[in-house]
Amino acid sequence: MSIATVNPATGEVLKTYDPMSDEQVDAAIDRADLAFRQLRGTSIAQRGDWLRAAADRLEADRDEIARLMTTEMGKTYAAAKAEVTKCAAACRFYAANAARMLADEPADARAVGATRAFVRYQPIGPVLAVMPWNFPLWQVMRFAAPALMAGNTGLLKHASNVPQTALLMEDLFRRAGFPEGAFGTLLVGSDAVDRILSDPRVRAATLTGSEAAGRSIGAIAGRELKKTVLELGGSDPFVVMPSADVRRAAEVATTARCQNNGQSCIAAKRFIVHTDVFDDFARAFAERMSALRLGDPMDERTDVGPLASERGRDEIHAQVRDAVEHGATVLCGGEVPSGAGWFYPPTVVTDLTPQMRMWAEEVFGPVAGLYRVSSYDEAIEVANGTSFGLGSNAWTTDPSEQERFATDLDAGNVFVNGMTTSFPELPFGGVKNSGYGRELSALGMREFCNTKTVWVG
Ligand code: NDP
Repeated sequence: MSIATVNPATGEVLKTYDPMSDEQVDAAIDRADLAFRQLRGTSIAQRGDWLRAAADRLEADRDEIARLMTTEMGKTYAAAKAEVTKCAAACRFYAANAARMLADEPADARAVGATRAFVRYQPIGPVLAVMPWNFPLWQVMRFAAPALMAGNTGLLKHASNVPQTALLMEDLFRRAGFPEGAFGTLLVGSDAVDRILSDPRVRAATLTGSEAAGRSIGAIAGRELKKTVLELGGSDPFVVMPSADVRRAAEVATTARCQNNGQSCIAAKRFIVHTDVFDDFARAFAERMSALRLGDPMDERTDVGPLASERGRDEIHAQVRDAVEHGATVLCGGEVPSGAGWFYPPTVVTDLTPQMRMWAEEVFGPVAGLYRVSSYDEAIEVANGTSFGLGSNAWTTDPSEQERFATDLDAGNVFVNGMTTSFPELPFGGVKNSGYGRELSALGMREFCNTKTVWVG
């Protein structure tokens, strides 16, 4: 795939880049390595000041950065502005909390025959971050903010369709005061990843992206004995039980499915509804989905913009067509609109069966599948019946059912009566083929630390 900005609302190629040469990549790794030696010696307070300066700049330049993201990948301008604000907040969170998260943790010295014993968290070096286009700023920031605060340096290989946002990240941290090379952008295709991750100066990798990319990076890292954090796809269940506030659930379901034009790993994708409330939910949900405005992502009245790529749009339409050919019913949407841009309407599909691709595959666009179940156990069986395990939602006002969902859903996170989202305060990640390791919170910061045991006799 070429490295280029192509406006998904028009299909127009706006800017193309030549991939960096091997020599340029080597020089960038060198800078990251040198910057690491410098950064690890700086104080947490100093790094916090730099990260707060990055937050200030994000807030000052919010509208311009948001416009760039919308142009490169099609999210609505309102969503893009919210993403910039969230990134600034994450910077401030890690600037404020890193000292606590990285503090030495005393252990019971007597129990281990020492006068003093503790755990110390130390940075490990340059970390390669392979990142996706769907939240082009946030996905990078949730790695970069904790990594830089811990004293690591970052090398970003961003998705090939968001090169300008990728370059902006390097510029952001440099102008905020971090040493030259502390955060570098590598404009390369995915074929360069093996060579970069095999370089002894690169100590670890984090990926947010597809399962296929996860398997590839995991294999390289395994060969090279390097730590990885993998945040891959998801097909999150959204379970609605009879005690739920059905109208509220339908309202949140609409946002949960169509946020970011339906292209979020933690978007609710499979709506598993108890038969007692199925018809009410289906009606309310399809009404809301068809009321969403599809259009120019820069127009403030638009709810859903284009998909990021033509390939992505073709893929979800193929999934819908496959379901229809196997007997599914489309309650709304399901047709590719005419005209320029890679638009796809909010779509609700029901009467799904396991023969259909949509039953268990991830659908990366504004297409919802409805599943009818007649008991709690059946709801859990369908919810857990995919290879994924990222986020999950359960709607019930019954406290004992809430407890059971929290335990029984095979997912990295369970949101009860609310939409799955990420917070710097809480760990984020998946189980099964959704990946491993955690981002955000103290856990995310410590993934790329040497957790060092210190024993003093
Ligand atoms: P990809 O996984 O292809 O892209 C994500 C990142 O990984 C990009 O930087 C990409 O680079 C890179 N990459 C891709 N393949 C490899 C590889 N073999 N080795 C190393 N790096 C690689 O995602 P797509 O954009 O193609 O989206 C397809 C699917 O991925 C979606 O349908 C969804 O399931 C999942 N996805 C999940 C996301 C999440 O948030 N968890 C985000 C985006 C996608 P390049 O762009 O140069 O190919």
